[in-house]
Amino acid sequence: MGDSFQIIVDKDASADDAPRLAARLRDWLVARRIIAPELTDCVLGGSGHRPGASRTAALEVPDEESWCWGLETNGLQMEVGRTVFFTIGGELTCRACGAHFEPEDGWSEAVDDWYGGNDGAEFNCPECGTPERLVEWSGESPWGFGHLGFKFWNWPPLSERFIQEVTEELGHRTLLVRGHL
Ligand SMILES: [Zn+2]
Repeated sequence: MGDSFQIIVDKDASADDAPRLAARLRDWLVARRIIAPELTDCVLGGSGHRPGASRTAALEVPDEESWCWGLETNGLQMEVGRTVFFTIGGELTCRACGAHFEPEDGWSEAVDDWYGGNDGAEFNCPECGTPERLVEWSGESPWGFGHLGFKFWNWPPLSERFIQEVTEELGHRTLLVRGHL
């Protein structure tokens, strides 16, 4: 089996604000002992913070004995800078017509457009044709678009309360992206 991840994406942080917000949230997580202060080789493609002594305070089910904790890839990776927080497939819901669908035709072009610097890049609902900005698409399994993300590698499910606390600490809207490799 591969590695899974949960990413709390800040939908509103600007490119200028992202580094400062990342540092502030890191300090907050370290103070609560959710993560360890050191940066180590515990994520894929970079470095991250290993789970701290109070890691289970972030979880839906505070499982101290979870097999996850023994894994090498088990850290929090902070991603700063324009990033597409993708998941394989994904499932979106149209706010206009309620259709659920896996984004296909035109999605990758819109993603490229956003990644190229167009914050207003849009994608049209395949059912009703209503355009929606990429960053506003949501659903069961959304993609995230932004300048700041907190990627938890191989952690058990994060609790809604924890995500809400992080959201309040950031002072922005957030989105949870889940996936596996
Ligand atoms: Zn629609």
